Amino acid sequence: MMLIDEKKIFDVINKRKPRSVALNGPEGLLPKIQDTATNITNVFGISAYIIGDTCWGSCDLNTHAADMLGVEVLFNIGHTIAMETFGKKVVMINAYDDVSFDAVARKCAVGLKDMKYKSISLLTDSQHLLQIASVKKIFEEYNYNIIIGRGKGQLNDAQVFGCEFYPAFEMQKQVDAYVFLGQSMFHSASIAISTEKPTYMLDPYFEEYSEVNEFAKRLQKKTILSVYKALDAERIGIIIGLKEGQFAQVRALEFKKLFEQLGKKVQLIALTEITDDRLNIFKGIDAFIQVACPRIALDNQFKKLVLSVPQTLALIKLLKKEPIDSFMKVQHWL
Ligand code: SF4
Repeated sequence: MMLIDEKKIFDVINKRKPRSVALNGPEGLLPKIQDTATNITNVFGISAYIIGDTCWGSCDLNTHAADMLGVEVLFNIGHTIAMETFGKKVVMINAYDDVSFDAVARKCAVGLKDMKYKSISLLTDSQHLLQIASVKKIFEEYNYNIIIGRGKGQLNDAQVFGCEFYPAFEMQKQVDAYVFLGQSMFHSASIAISTEKPTYMLDPYFEEYSEVNEFAKRLQKKTILSVYKALDAERIGIIIGLKEGQFAQVRALEFKKLFEQLGKKVQLIALTEITDDRLNIFKGIDAFIQVACPRIALDNQFKKLVLSVPQTLALIKLLKKEPIDSFMKVQHWL
């Protein structure tokens, strides 16, 4: 069950005494956020607005909506990061899933014995950070050397985002395999792609563990194929995402300059939600490059070619007749 840290929300309201607040978070948490908003109004008698727009990460804070609503505090729920606040208005609130990993961790620890791994690194997303310690203990009982990668920037120790993998990447030489806690192919496959090491996903709900490297390879092939397909594109649309933590105008202008030097025609486009429907409106574009969230190009189906930042860097190299190597084997896909 997902648990929102309402105590922290109440402490902040008691201290700051706002006249109104707003709350946002990932889609799956919205029903819980509705309950929290009701509790705030019942206890403090103030307005609590739920921002119902998409909220993909700490890169997608929606402070513009909070400003429009005139609230004094915006609680961003469910994106546990190493920072407590953003500016004066945004307060980060943890939401943890209390599901137990004990059974699946034991199953995996026994199952991986055949692989002769000595050192394993544990990783997870924000919802399961609290379970890292207990899973570590279980694997140690089975004589594995468990290494926890250090956090960096917004990432806590052992934490990864869908585009940022510092705790995994920096451990590569010391570990034989990675184990990701959580039912997320999105996160575990990216660890496999960025490290090219055996990676396993522990699903606590079905109490199953699985290797994700085959799936990751298919995803990786798709990214490489898109880069080669884009080689012939003459007219390129560069999309700047308007979500505040994904806003990369400088990067977009750098790419524009490079593509123009390579003889391509470039159109600059700004968009909040980068979807197939929105892109299909634009005419005369052979390939899009989006400098917002790298997962947009990786995980969605688009009728037109859409490349992310690492794919674009590879495309530029190919156009310059340079080798591209393993261009997704980096710690941050931006
Ligand atoms: S993967 Fe996308 S949504 Fe997630 S942190 Fe990175 S930019 Fe934000």
